[in-house]
Amino acid sequence: MERRRFDLELLSITVMILAVLDLCLIVAHPDDECYGTGGTLAEYATKGLKTGLITLTKGSSGRSLGLCSQAELPEFRAIELQNSVNALSISNFVQFEYPDAAPATRDSSHKDDAPALFLGGLQDFIPEATARVLALLETWQPKVVMTFPPDGSNRHPDHIASHQIALAALEQGGHLARGTRVYGFANPVLLNPDWADTWKPPTHFRDVTPYLVPKLRAIAAHRTQALSTVGFLERLPERIVTETFRRLIPAWSEDEVIGSQL
Ligand SMILES: [Zn+2]
Repeated sequence: MERRRFDLELLSITVMILAVLDLCLIVAHPDDECYGTGGTLAEYATKGLKTGLITLTKGSSGRSLGLCSQAELPEFRAIELQNSVNALSISNFVQFEYPDAAPATRDSSHKDDAPALFLGGLQDFIPEATARVLALLETWQPKVVMTFPPDGSNRHPDHIASHQIALAALEQGGHLARGTRVYGFANPVLLNPDWADTWKPPTHFRDVTPYLVPKLRAIAAHRTQALSTVGFLERLPERIVTETFRRLIPAWSEDEVIGSQL
């Protein structure tokens, strides 16, 4: 009996050790994992480190580009996301089914630039989603978490909600007190003068040139989001080769030296 208890304790300790993730990404949409951080995720996997991804919505309000019907889009995008996860060799992956915010109008040339008005979406499910992320993090125990910055990078309400969910779960689970570091995506340039009051520049620049092949495979997996890819390449081509982040927790101090190590 004593021996059995010892074995079980050893097993649970082993499971905990195996579950520790080196890097975990918490984002709103299928495709949020690839543009700004695909190279870093691929680099971690190549080096034998464990990565995780929580995608909070199905992205059902996005474009289908005629590749499927709008009703088929959530499952179509789930397959695209799984292909991206495979390309990036992500160790632990979970997708939730929350709805994403629907744009009141669709301007095909500025999808990510200036979301004038979005309705519903993830912002309506913050407490419930936080509890589920909290439960996952309990098992995953990530050393580093990446998510959107407080303004969602582009003020998209799902991006802002994903930041709030990630931070609330980390706080409630005691991860921040235990030293988990949190980084936000950070655009190296101010994309829209209306966002100047919340934009904060990157503190970490990561050259991901050696990992461009898996990153580009992950981007290409999202066929229905080809216009988002074109938009990203038009506005932020430098972030394809150099991924840029800002350390949010512990808060960045201006006398620190800009780095690359997360
Ligand atoms: Zn997004």
